[in-house]
Amino acid sequence: MPDEVYTSGMSIVRLQIALQFDYGLESWEQLLRRKIIDFHQDQESHWVADLDCGHTQHTRHDPPLFPRPWVITTAGRDSRIGTELECGWCDRKTIPDSYAPYKQTSVFNAKTIPPGLRQQHSTKAGVWGIIHIVRGTLLYRIHHPFHSEETLDPHTQGIVLPEVTHEVQPSEDAEFYVEFWRRDEPSRHN
Ligand SMILES: [Zn+2]
Repeated sequence: MPDEVYTSGMSIVRLQIALQFDYGLESWEQLLRRKIIDFHQDQESHWVADLDCGHTQHTRHDPPLFPRPWVITTAGRDSRIGTELECGWCDRKTIPDSYAPYKQTSVFNAKTIPPGLRQQHSTKAGVWGIIHIVRGTLLYRIHHPFHSEETLDPHTQGIVLPEVTHEVQPSEDAEFYVEFWRRDEPSRHN
């Protein structure tokens, strides 16, 4: 259960139901859940959770609608590390602002594609990807929680989300590569 549902009652449950219609999902339980790996404070000293997908989410103590007295103390915050929150940014397949590309595969075609890419696989926590099509088309199938299928072409990139299983099927004439993104840490530029 998301934090909001625990702490603020029916109005938020209705909000969740409204959101699931916006996203076209059958149940809000299918929205992507991400682990809290840390907390930081924004410029107004409100607490923000850092999620393992690279996104952030406000967890401010804001009674009566969002009472989170635990966020005020170090022990309280520590107790929430490793717990999960739903991530609306992931649901919209948005690569985090703080991320940058750090490596890419060679250009594959239908003959040279590593067999593992045709089967269910995923990137690890915190690693995003963009599938770039040089020519031809590629069928991009994303499994839980999206259960979607897209046809990528040179004008349509595919966004790969951390830890979300997917598979691809290139056309006979396809050429494509995958670019990987992770948190852009200043030390990496030294
Ligand atoms: Zn996210």
